[in-house]
Amino acid sequence: MSVINQYQRKFKEEKESYSTELGKRPNWLKVKLPTGDNYTDVRNLMRRQKLHTVCEEAKCPNIAECWNARSATFMILGDTCTRSCGFCNIKVGIPNELDLNEPRRVADSVKELNLRHVVITSVNRDELKDGGAAIFRECVKLINEEMYDTTVEILIPDFRGVEEAFEIIMQNPPDILNHNLETVPRLYKVVRPQAKYERSLSLIKWFKEKGLKTKSGIMVGIGEEPEEVLTLMDDIVNNGCDILTIGQYLQPTKNHLPVDRYVSPEEFNIYKEEGLKKGFRIVESSPLVRSSYHADRHARAIF
Ligand code: SF4
Repeated sequence: MSVINQYQRKFKEEKESYSTELGKRPNWLKVKLPTGDNYTDVRNLMRRQKLHTVCEEAKCPNIAECWNARSATFMILGDTCTRSCGFCNIKVGIPNELDLNEPRRVADSVKELNLRHVVITSVNRDELKDGGAAIFRECVKLINEEMYDTTVEILIPDFRGVEEAFEIIMQNPPDILNHNLETVPRLYKVVRPQAKYERSLSLIKWFKEKGLKTKSGIMVGIGEEPEEVLTLMDDIVNNGCDILTIGQYLQPTKNHLPVDRYVSPEEFNIYKEEGLKKGFRIVESSPLVRSSYHADRHARAIF
């Protein structure tokens, strides 16, 4: 029996056992309520600087842990996205005008939090010619100038595949270029209707060929089959990706795509083992993993 067939059989049994309990979250997905001095400091800083974080906007389950460790993921280019992905809790609509002072406030906040590693992501701004790439570049530039030891990771949208936008990013490149594939190609129409699987793979390849460290992430439990995850891993690693994150999809509101199943911690471990065998340098795979979870550890490990 092939490795994939063994997985298929094992995962099918698990799927059957967990799918009956979808109403209640298993213990491994229970998290602490966000409280604590550091948590309050980070929240106050974000309000004072009028900045958004994906931690709050996406209702990330790790917010208590990360903010208490004074770590947060900045979300730039406003709080309104031009795309309507089925899994994402970020507001959709017509965005406000670009805020050209945003990079200054992000850099000041990175300084105030004294971050060793920072992750910056954004909404999609498909109405802009460069998709907002110049604002990403300015954030990286200011942080590089003022925080010499801080590594910068940017988690970018696909910029509609426009190469001029990629070139703008390379004018002041980050230490790590992250772009999430999110799910297997079969589910793109419902999960990421305005994205293209091949376009995202090409983006990773493009930046890898420029010499950057690259990273990507996916959710599981949204309707994919285990063997599709293994094939997806091959596609990502073969396009030059160094780091992979895998976490459980959780439905942010009842208007979003439903959870298909709760993937067991054991299955996450198997994905990690398989990913490392396939050639990823780091695989962070467990139920509560999100794209920026433990990002500072990844940066320390890869440089
Ligand atoms: S995992 Fe990322 S998005 Fe979630 S709270 Fe931590 S830094 Fe924020």
